[in-house]
Amino acid sequence: MFRLFPHPDAQPEVHDPAAALRAEVRAFLAEERESGAIRPGRQGWTTWDRGFSLRAAARGYVGMTLPPEFGGHGRSAWERYVVCEEMLAAGAPLGSHWIADRQSAPQILRHGSEAVKRAILPRVARGEITFGIGMSEPDSGSDLSSIRTRADPVEGGFRLDGRKIWTTNAQHAEYIICLCRTAPKGEDRYAGLSQLVVPMDSPGITVRPLRNLADEEELNEITFDSVFVPADHLLGQGGDGWALVNAELAFERSGPDRILSSFGVLAVMAQMLAETRDPRGIAELGGLVARLTAIRQLSLQINAMLGRGEKVGGIATVMKDLGTTLEQDIPEVARRLMDIMPALDGDTPAATLATAILNAPCYSLRGGTREILKGIIARELGLR
Ligand SMILES: Cc1cc2nc3c(=O)[nH]c(=O)nc-3n(C[C@H](O)[C@H](O)[C@H](O)COP(=O)(O)OP(=O)(O)OC[C@H]3O[C@@H](n4cnc5c(N)ncnc54)[C@H](O)[C@@H]3O)c2cc1C
Repeated sequence: MFRLFPHPDAQPEVHDPAAALRAEVRAFLAEERESGAIRPGRQGWTTWDRGFSLRAAARGYVGMTLPPEFGGHGRSAWERYVVCEEMLAAGAPLGSHWIADRQSAPQILRHGSEAVKRAILPRVARGEITFGIGMSEPDSGSDLSSIRTRADPVEGGFRLDGRKIWTTNAQHAEYIICLCRTAPKGEDRYAGLSQLVVPMDSPGITVRPLRNLADEEELNEITFDSVFVPADHLLGQGGDGWALVNAELAFERSGPDRILSSFGVLAVMAQMLAETRDPRGIAELGGLVARLTAIRQLSLQINAMLGRGEKVGGIATVMKDLGTTLEQDIPEVARRLMDIMPALDGDTPAATLATAILNAPCYSLRGGTREILKGIIARELGLR
C-alpha cells in the first residue's frame, strides 16, 4: 500500500533522527485505532475527546516543549513536530488539548504571570484542560483592531464585557485567551488592546454552540457580562495585545495542521490508485504529494525558528495560504478520481470523502482568510 510516511513495521530510517520516537507514537496510535478512539478520515484535529488527550499526555505527547519546572517534558520543537504530524496523519481527535498545546501554553510561558504559569501549564501538560481562542467577534474577524469586547480596571483585576464568536470547542474549554480593549480606540487603532486568560467557569459567561456544515457543534458564541478577571491573568504589559496576538497567530498559522487536515482522503485515494493503477490519477496524486512535501519543508523551517524564539510572521502567513490551498484541493481531486458517492455513513471511503468535502471550506477561513493572508504577504514585501 502507498504510504507518505514509512510503514510502521519498517526498520528505523538511518537518516531520521526521530525514528525511535515515530515508532513509539505509531504504536500508541495503533492501540488507539484498535480501541475505536481513532476513526481515520472521520475526525478532524478539532474533534474533542478528553480521554484521548489524557492518554496521549500520559505518554508525554502533550506539553512536550514546556520546561520540566512547569510540568512539561523539555523536548525539542522538532520532536513535538514529529509527534504532531504522526497524530494528524493518523486522524486522531486532538481537539481537547490542541489549542492549549499549540499556542496558549507557549503564549502563557512567554507572557504570563508566575502564578498563572504555575497554575495552568502543568495541567496543560497532563492533558487536563482545553483552551479556546478568543479573537473573532460578531463584527470583527479579519480586522481584529476593531473588536469591542472591553476590560475595565476594577479592584484586583478587570471587568470584562462583550462577545466572541466562532470560538472552537469553547463549550468544553476551561480557559480562553481573550483579546479585549483595555483602553479606548484612539488614533493608533492597534494600541490599547490586551490579552486576558479567562477562566470559563467565571460567573457572567454564557456559551452558545453553533452548528457547522457537517451539523456538528464545534463552534460557539461567548457572551461576557461583567465577568471578573484577576489582574495576574493579564498577559504581557496591558496595551501590547496587538503584538501578542500576532505572535500567537504565528504558532497558529505554520504547523502541520495546516497541511494534513485532508490527509485521510489522500490516503484513501492512494489505496484506490494502488489497485486501479490509473496513470492519470497517479500523476495527479504525485502532484499533490510533491506539494505536500515542499510545504512541509517550509513548515519545518518555521517550526525551527519558532523553537528558537525567532519572529516568523510573514513566512507563517505564506505557509498557511499554501497549506490550506492544498488541503482544499485534495478533496476536489479525490472527488474527480474516486468513483464513489460521498455519504456520511460509517467508516467507509465514501464517509472519509464526505467528511473532507464538508470540512474543507473552513480551512481557508479559520486562522485568517486567504485575502487577509495575501494582504499581509503584500505588506511584508513592501507592496502596500
Ligand atoms: C472552522 C472555524 C473555526 C474558527 N475558530 C475560531 C476560534 O477558535 N477563535 C476565533 O477567534 N475565531 C475563529 N474563527 C473565526 C475566523 O478567524 C474568522 O472567521 C476569520 O478571521 C474571518 O473573519 P469573519 O468571519 O468575521 O469574516 P470577515 O472579516 O467579515 O470577512 C468576510 C470576507 O471579506 C474578506 N475581507 C475582509 N476584509 C478584507 C480586506 N481588508 N481585504 C480583502 N478582503 C477582505 C475576507 O477575506 C472574507 O472573505 C473560526 C472560523 C472557522 C471557519
